Amino acid sequence: MVLQELGGKISSALQQMTNATTVNQKVFDKCLNDIARALLQNDVQVEIVGDLQSNIKRIVNLDGRAEGHNKRKIIQQAVFSELCKMLDPGKPSFTPKKNEPSVVMFVGLQGSGKTTTCTKYAHYYQNKGWKPALVCADTFRAGAFDQLKQNATKANIPFYGSHTESDPVNVAVEGVETFKRENRNLIIIDTSGRHVQEKALFEEMLQLREATKPDLVIFVMDSSIGQAAFKQAQAFKQSVDVGAVIVTKMDGHAKGGGALSAVAATKSPVIFIGTGEHINEFEDFNVKPFVSRLLG
Ligand code: GDP
Repeated sequence: MVLQELGGKISSALQQMTNATTVNQKVFDKCLNDIARALLQNDVQVEIVGDLQSNIKRIVNLDGRAEGHNKRKIIQQAVFSELCKMLDPGKPSFTPKKNEPSVVMFVGLQGSGKTTTCTKYAHYYQNKGWKPALVCADTFRAGAFDQLKQNATKANIPFYGSHTESDPVNVAVEGVETFKRENRNLIIIDTSGRHVQEKALFEEMLQLREATKPDLVIFVMDSSIGQAAFKQAQAFKQSVDVGAVIVTKMDGHAKGGGALSAVAATKSPVIFIGTGEHINEFEDFNVKPFVSRLLG
């Protein structure tokens, strides 16, 4: 994944700073500029990069430091913690509990990998002992239900949907009620990702949320959308109360930085990343280990 290149560039900027005979303002500025350039090239939004730079400057406060401080270490730690902060809104997401039924609604644009991700999410929890079920509330796209049915059948997960009902709210409510009766403790609703107008899509999401009262709304975002990620994430957050994000297609040539940093727009954590088309190509996302791994 291209993110490794980003990590390599940041590490090398830090290495150059570490190798310098003395760490003065010039060396520090060069290090910060190299890091900022790497982030911008990786589609991280300009404002976010600017904030990161000024936060690091403030923490390091080179002028105000007495001699004898380990400036190299202070800079390294500040870069690490600010990268973590960029990816961590500081608010943990709702996590399903086995002893009470949870309803989780997936939203995102068509093609983002929503249906695939719903199944991966269900499979992940099924492996941990949950009893998941999938509801297809996408009555807009012909073939949506068949796709979900196919995925669910392969993964051996109960599913609900309709070929004839055109109101997504009816299907969602019936699906959730059916699975609650059947004592399923993780009911996952897949929603439509495309409408003639975006406004109609957001209205439908709101109606679905109102009718099914999900414990968590997960926004699925394709990592290849780059700089557009921030605006897209913001639009979803403003329309429906996004509580967590899953970034898909992190295995491809996508730079990933745009999508990952768009969590700042949703103020919600990334909980998983999709790393392939296969059901098992799905990873837990934890900020600190991720940034450690990124920096090598
Ligand atoms: P939806 O329209 O949002 O429901 O998207 P789909 O679930 O139908 O996925 C669109 C395409 O992206 C399909 O071909 C999926 O196999 C593919 N896809 C989904 N997640 C990933 C991923 O993490 N990596 C890769 N390489 N492909 C993915």
